[in-house]
Amino acid sequence: MRLLIVTLACALLAACGTTRVPASSSPSVSPSASSALSPSPSPSLSPSPSVKLPDGFVALSDVDSSILEDVRYATPHNFVGRVVNGYERPRCLLTRVAAEALHRVQQSAQARGYSLKVYDCYRPQRAVDDFVRWADNPDQAMKAEFYPQVDKSQLFPDGYIGGPTAHSRGSTLDLTLVALPAAAQRAYRPGEPLVSCTSPAGQRFPDDTLDMGTGFDCFDPLAHTAAGGIDQRQRANRDLLVGLMADGGFTNYPKEWWHYTLDHEPFPDTYFDFPVA
Ligand SMILES: [Zn+2]
Repeated sequence: MRLLIVTLACALLAACGTTRVPASSSPSVSPSASSALSPSPSPSLSPSPSVKLPDGFVALSDVDSSILEDVRYATPHNFVGRVVNGYERPRCLLTRVAAEALHRVQQSAQARGYSLKVYDCYRPQRAVDDFVRWADNPDQAMKAEFYPQVDKSQLFPDGYIGGPTAHSRGSTLDLTLVALPAAAQRAYRPGEPLVSCTSPAGQRFPDDTLDMGTGFDCFDPLAHTAAGGIDQRQRANRDLLVGLMADGGFTNYPKEWWHYTLDHEPFPDTYFDFPVA
């Protein structure tokens, strides 16, 4: 149970391999971040952002438009079941250094017949705060897919909530691999019957991705990168992603096969809070 708790706590706020800080700590936000916001979403998603990003940040699509994006927290298909606060547009924002490193990983992946697909990139602190509020309410609408084997009330003991996530530093992202050419993927329909993220690939939500043994944001030990209980092909797929990302200078968080941080990130101590817009 403790592993499950730590796993979900990581996904929510996610110390995710970093030092957890007390819940009362205030994240540091750069002045450039807080002054660079625009409340007006653009009608076009890419490639030219209408909002000014903090210095050092880019839209991933402006660096590599071939990388697939399925930014789940900007949709209802996530463990909360609705758009998360701070995600005004479904786009991947990263530090330029991380985006350029990811571009090189994408080139390696493409040479092998695959594409990267990102699920989450830069995450504003206000989104983390939204997760914290959600943790305090009784809603469990998405339990059947994302935390099927753990009761929500057991997932959030005092002390696990309130720390900043590495995602807010702009050089951490969640991603997977897709075989090219990418297959068509149907849209998630809010309210559709949910299937456990630990179910076989043919039964869980029909993602177009390589079978990694679980779905994304699956709060279960089976999602630990080195977990037993997955088959040879799933193991090979996880190893392929780990290898490609390691070659690109990213390190995996061992409790989530999808979570990676750039080793030499440009803002190792700064937790930004500008919206994904
Ligand atoms: Zn992550």
